[in-house]
Amino acid sequence: MSLAAARILLIEDDAVIRGFVRESLQTEGGEVFEADTGARGLIEAATRQPALLILDLGLPDRDGLDVIRDIRSWSQLPIIVLSARTQETAKVAALDAGADDYLIKPFGVPELLARVRAQLRRAAVPAGAAEAVFRFGSNEVDLAQRRVLHAGEEVHLTQLEYRLLATLIREQGRVVTHRQLMQEVWGPGYAERTHYLRIYMKQLREKLEDNPAQPAFLLTETGVGYRLQA
Ligand code: CA
Repeated sequence: MSLAAARILLIEDDAVIRGFVRESLQTEGGEVFEADTGARGLIEAATRQPALLILDLGLPDRDGLDVIRDIRSWSQLPIIVLSARTQETAKVAALDAGADDYLIKPFGVPELLARVRAQLRRAAVPAGAAEAVFRFGSNEVDLAQRRVLHAGEEVHLTQLEYRLLATLIREQGRVVTHRQLMQEVWGPGYAERTHYLRIYMKQLREKLEDNPAQPAFLLTETGVGYRLQA
């Protein structure tokens, strides 16, 4: 699948990485706009109307988190952040602030393109247009009836298991942080009790994954959260 002239904005101060990302995206048909500071990037974001933003968290003039918050105040544009391995907490904070996905430097072209395509696909489905029946692997989740089938057999999920699954389905393809899942499923007072999540994810995998020890759909993003890959 080509990127079909998708307009992509790249905010990154490292000229080498910028060149590499630009060429990778252009080769696949993407139209790339560049900025090397947060201030310039915000202007480009407002004027170019990109379909996707790739944002380096370590910018010379502004914290990448501020750029995300600024953009989120007026746009739902998908945002993929680039972070160095040493910026573990910054990466989680970026997702909590509204980024959709992240890439850890150094990353390769296939990984970059896969993430870009996933976000463009996600953005192409208008909000509220979600199918009433969501399928992944041998599972069917009827979101209107709250019924779950695995290999044609009805599966009983507890209320919390179902809410966790429904949240991941709504955010499919996106990394959902531990904090976001805790707030969504358990409520505001529970953000730090992420051990609950491990227990409930294990239960969900046992009910819905063909091989729960090596999940194909309910994926762990180590140190960050979970992602449903359909
Ligand atoms: Ca940088």
